[in-house]
Amino acid sequence: MGTLAVVGGGAIGQGVAWRAAEAGWSVTLFDPAPGSGASWVAGGMLAPLSEGWPGEDRVLEFGAAALARWPEFAARLQAATGVDVLVAAETLTVALDAADAADLRTIADWVGGRALATAVDHDLRVLDRAGVRALEPALARTVRAGLLAAAEPAIDNRRLLDGLRKAGAEAGVRLRSEAVAHLDDLDFDQIVLAAGAASARLLPGLPVRPVKGEILRLRHRPGATPVPHRVIRARVHGRAVYLVPRGDGLVVGATQYEAGFDTTVTVGGVRDLIADAEAILPGIAEYELSEASAGSRPGTPDNLPLIGRHTDRIVVATGHGRNGMLTTPLTVDAVLGELAGTPLPAARSADPRRFSTPAAPAVPSSPGGIR
Ligand SMILES: Cc1cc2nc3c(=O)[nH]c(=O)nc-3n(C[C@H](O)[C@H](O)[C@H](O)COP(=O)(O)OP(=O)(O)OC[C@H]3O[C@@H](n4cnc5c(N)ncnc54)[C@H](O)[C@@H]3O)c2cc1C
Repeated sequence: MGTLAVVGGGAIGQGVAWRAAEAGWSVTLFDPAPGSGASWVAGGMLAPLSEGWPGEDRVLEFGAAALARWPEFAARLQAATGVDVLVAAETLTVALDAADAADLRTIADWVGGRALATAVDHDLRVLDRAGVRALEPALARTVRAGLLAAAEPAIDNRRLLDGLRKAGAEAGVRLRSEAVAHLDDLDFDQIVLAAGAASARLLPGLPVRPVKGEILRLRHRPGATPVPHRVIRARVHGRAVYLVPRGDGLVVGATQYEAGFDTTVTVGGVRDLIADAEAILPGIAEYELSEASAGSRPGTPDNLPLIGRHTDRIVVATGHGRNGMLTTPLTVDAVLGELAGTPLPAARSADPRRFSTPAAPAVPSSPGGIR
């Protein structure tokens, strides 16, 4: 073990810094504003199964491998810091029309029928109108079908950041509140680049770009419709919308645009999110709108991250797109594997060198795939 610089203090960088320090590395984390990027605004869904779509085998495999690592990761974080990050145990995707109901059946058949390399409960249950209402009575009467993913929980992303910061400090991670201008300036044995959507500024040519997302936080008010027990996902007018429970309300997400590094919250974004959420849960009109924010997802051409060795001294851990919360535990394990010289087989599909060969097809978006 030697000295390690981690560049970027989002969930990925802080997770790597914590576990590397525990493993014996002397870790310095560089970030002018730790925890202020996409990891701060995210919804916190861990939902690779209900986002499954025929043809997206590698994304499903990777997501399932990440999901399987969450219970141990969450338990370890809680043991180290007392912070419990889980906010919901299940995900319910609902359909408002016949086409969406047919899509739910397609997802259930395809995901349920896969022989996944990772042991994870990937059985998805299709529900009729009455079945949905029995689980979540506050949902709109126009909901006609549902898809229950009993193994897909959700976390509070801000509690995750709080826990990772505490765990890192406890493990001896040193924080330098500054931006890194050039990786060559860093006099460390190893460097992990985890600067999210900004990573390509430090490694030009890295295929990662910002994908803007707006998201709302609603606070429950006394007498208002109760917060659903599960994550609720749907498509409304062709747009994906989701509601993620929090102790005091709901997170409503999220828009998706190619807008460079712009993180302005637009009137149109807020309008669409509220209208779509209200079509699913009419009672949200009584909630308080407590926050509207936006962040830059670190997107890649094939919706898989970039995790692995770039040079003898640099490991990259970026490009997590709309799944960075889900894939934090797997990324941390994969980076630690690289640093130890034992790459993790479950992370092979995220090898950043895949784009230097011609065999990296772009993946079409699934109908439910927006975070
Ligand atoms: C609206 C929205 C909703 C989302 N919902 C979900 C969800 O429900 N589930 C899910 O799994 N994922 C979700 N995501 C995706 C997830 O948030 C990201 O994939 C994840 O946060 C990426 O983490 P990161 O640590 O790589 O990046 P970030 O959290 O963006 O952190 C990058 C850090 O790098 C720092 N940095 C940048 N440049 C430098 C530099 N030169 N020197 C030093 N530091 C630097 C920044 O200050 C920042 O703190 C969502 C994203 C958005 C935007």
